[in-house]
Amino acid sequence: MSLLDSALVRLLPAVPKPVVQMFSSRYIAGATLGEAVDCVRGLNAGGKMATVDVLGEEITREDETRAIAQAYRDVFAAIHEAELDSNVSVKLTALGLDLSYDLCRENLLDVVRVAAGYGNFVRIDMEDSSTTDATLRLYRELREDGHDNLGVVLQARLRRTLDDVHALADLRPSVRLCKGIYLESGSIAFTEYEAVRVNFLRCLDALFDAGSYVGVATHDEWLIDESLARVSTRGLGQLEYELQMLLGVRENRRDELVAEGHRLRVYVPFGEQWYGYSLRRLQENPAMAGTIARATAGRMLGLSR
Ligand SMILES: Cc1cc2nc3c(=O)[nH]c(=O)nc-3n(C[C@H](O)[C@H](O)[C@H](O)COP(=O)(O)OP(=O)(O)OC[C@H]3O[C@@H](n4cnc5c(N)ncnc54)[C@H](O)[C@@H]3O)c2cc1C
Repeated sequence: MSLLDSALVRLLPAVPKPVVQMFSSRYIAGATLGEAVDCVRGLNAGGKMATVDVLGEEITREDETRAIAQAYRDVFAAIHEAELDSNVSVKLTALGLDLSYDLCRENLLDVVRVAAGYGNFVRIDMEDSSTTDATLRLYRELREDGHDNLGVVLQARLRRTLDDVHALADLRPSVRLCKGIYLESGSIAFTEYEAVRVNFLRCLDALFDAGSYVGVATHDEWLIDESLARVSTRGLGQLEYELQMLLGVRENRRDELVAEGHRLRVYVPFGEQWYGYSLRRLQENPAMAGTIARATAGRMLGLSR
């Protein structure tokens, strides 16, 4: 991303919501569960798996957290009924982590038990670094209580992540490995693009060494190549890893990877609370962010109507 684009991206939160919605619609399945089901059905027909995310984060009331847990119950029922190949991804702040650890644990347990009833699986998304300790603690507690249909996410951006891989190794965790979307300070995170890539591969090696099932979640071509080279060198079978991408990103490449015989899962967010997720996606899109920010800045400066 150019310096100008990076500067303009910081203006995105000032962009009117309808404009954000227009540009970000490709990243979201829709507002309703029915739209999410249709989206997953289409992905499955094209040979891709899915993970459904009920949008909602930094929720501040207990009843909202219960509503999110209920929404996940509905998602599992719909997946079962429509015979979809999809699991779910949950954010712990949506299940109440900012309100109380115990409330969040209760809600997560609820979702995990419902998933188990359907023979399905729950992936805990990783949020900003203020939540990492609690997330990994909760993950360990539930796994030690025998809930094996539960996976977690680790972020290569964080300096601590290799240690976290080693600390989790006894659980042989199912891990989604990603770069990490949240901007963190240099004291706890790698801030250089190349350093994040290097740490990604270091963590991937350590996870494979520990016998973990890894969802390699990146659109970075170099990382995809390097990860697949490792899969090949280690002689991993088709069912022993998966690739993951976000809805609306690199769709052609997705198709090629599936045609090459790799299992690939698409992250499918849906719901009314689309704004925060959409902003993060637009800020990552090297072309789109600058386009929107320039259009808005132009309007603010009276350069266009
Ligand atoms: C399935 C999945 C789940 C994730 N879950 C989490 C999570 O739980 N916690 C977390 O912190 N992060 C999560 N992320 C986000 C991740 O951490 C990165 O922020 C994001 O994937 C961008 O990094 P990248 O590896 O794709 O590399 P980048 O270098 O950012 O992108 C590589 C290339 O992909 C394309 N691209 C990337 N993003 C976009 C976009 N929005 N629009 C258009 N093109 C784009 C561009 O061509 C870009 O050059 C997840 C990502 C995926 C794929």
